[in-house]
Amino acid sequence: ILGKVVQNLSVQIEQKEVNLEINLNAINTEVLADQVHVTNIFFNLMDNAIKYSNESPNICISTEDTDDGVMVSIKDDGIGIPKDQLSKIFEKFYRVPKGNLHDVKGFGLGLSYVKNMIELLKGKIEVNSKIDSGSEFKVTLPNT
Ligand code: ATP
Ligand code: MG
Repeated sequence: ILGKVVQNLSVQIEQKEVNLEINLNAINTEVLADQVHVTNIFFNLMDNAIKYSNESPNICISTEDTDDGVMVSIKDDGIGIPKDQLSKIFEKFYRVPKGNLHDVKGFGLGLSYVKNMIELLKGKIEVNSKIDSGSEFKVTLPNT
């Protein structure tokens, strides 16, 4: 699924000259879920990682086995998210109202879909971010 997501974003990845690192360390990647939705989750996170970064960003996709299931991390070294906005970015139509975000198009819907879907799948999403240094979104989906 992650391979398909990268393929679907190949134009953006090339145009922005993304340096992509992929570390697939998880062995137990069996998850019972709708493939289309799982693809959409990671598509949205990767799309954001590319959109909210400057030219030639470093983006790392990694997977790990955890006690709660398979963890997928999407980490960028982009513009970051201010601490006081972190709780709001998952709200429908919310976009961080700041600086160079103005020329990046979006509806503010991606992360609200991502969060709702992960909840339905009984998974979890965590975010770590630092302004001007980057963001990491970690998704954990329970194994079957
Ligand atoms: P859409 O996904 O609907 O096209 P969007 O990208 O603006 O539009 P979300 O994906 O829901 O909407 O993200 C909400 C907001 O969170 C974004 O507008 C942006 O301000 C911030 N954001 C999300 N991901 C990142 C990231 N990786 N780095 C920096 N800011 C981010
Ligand atoms: Mg988005």
